[in-house]
Amino acid sequence: MTIFEDVESEVRSYCRNWPVVFDTAKGARLWDTDGNSYLDFFAGAGALNYGHNPEPLKRKLLEYLSRDGITHGLDMYTTAKGEFLKTFREKILGPRGLDYKVQFPGPTGANAVESALKLARKITGKEAMVNFTNAFHGMTLGALSVTGNSMKRGGAGIPLVHSTPMPFDNYFDGKVPDFLWFEKVLTDTGSSLNEPAAVIVETVQGEGGINPARIEWLQGLADLCKRHDILLIVDDVQMGVGRTGPFFSFEAAGIEPDIVTISKSISGYGLPMALVLIKPEHDVWGPGEHNGTFRGHNPAFVTGTEAIHQFWSDDIERGLLMETSGPQSEVMKILAPLTITDDELDEGLAIVAESVKAVTSGG
Ligand code: PLP
Repeated sequence: MTIFEDVESEVRSYCRNWPVVFDTAKGARLWDTDGNSYLDFFAGAGALNYGHNPEPLKRKLLEYLSRDGITHGLDMYTTAKGEFLKTFREKILGPRGLDYKVQFPGPTGANAVESALKLARKITGKEAMVNFTNAFHGMTLGALSVTGNSMKRGGAGIPLVHSTPMPFDNYFDGKVPDFLWFEKVLTDTGSSLNEPAAVIVETVQGEGGINPARIEWLQGLADLCKRHDILLIVDDVQMGVGRTGPFFSFEAAGIEPDIVTISKSISGYGLPMALVLIKPEHDVWGPGEHNGTFRGHNPAFVTGTEAIHQFWSDDIERGLLMETSGPQSEVMKILAPLTITDDELDEGLAIVAESVKAVTSGG
């Protein structure tokens, strides 16, 4: 019997699928104690979107630790937190025309979801929620109450109430018009539906089976919420931070949720961290109303800031205007004026080469 089987609780889960002892990891590979290497197609359940131990983030983290930067600081003002907030506003929110206040709940996705649900209830003064079939939002009681999976719900040990499930996109294989049931029960005073404070949705259901919602379905949902005065919460814990391409998974739909939950890859290094993004007019929290000891882990701020600089900074920064094309925007399209001089051409191509190098080396 190993130390793990001997001492660790039966609640262990992922380790049962991979019964080896892992020791080191880099990029998309892990190594066990016998030196066997494994390709990682799981990436920390979405917490390692930039791979294991990305070099530029590791450098920043080591620098920070070696100068005795604050590690634990409750929610005190720290340079690391200030830098993160500034960078997040300048490089993520600003370029997307988004205006959100940033809340640091506890460091997990479930913490962010709990906080989002509480806040929606406080904003609206209503108790009821709407969730979707096959949704997954975490393992704490509030998060479980909006989660579909019956085994996970069963673990709660108490009735999970205050939420009504609606069919996610394509639940009826396209046979039923979108939101037919949802609109009907909202408008029928005989339906017995409690007026919902908010709808919570994943744009792509990760744990529920990789079910993507169509853009028009998400737009329809945002429109329905607006018409019926229901807050829209997008749970981007798993699909945010680039998992579907853009930073926020809802960008392609052009919708602006009232509240967004983010976690998993936001620190960029697998360090625990979560955010709740709140439209400023909805930031009705009182001081300490959703408190906690680990809300803003400073090393995670450091790596999170560097991840944004490395992977999400504006590409025209290097002084070259260029387009991409192809189904995944994977082709660089050089469409310089035909009258460009040889020197200008050399200058531009050097910038392209520099940019490609920066992206591929993470530097
Ligand atoms: N929300 C979504 C969409 C998730 O996929 C998950 C976890 O997989 C969570 C919330 C819960 O996050 P955590 O496991 O960090 O509590």
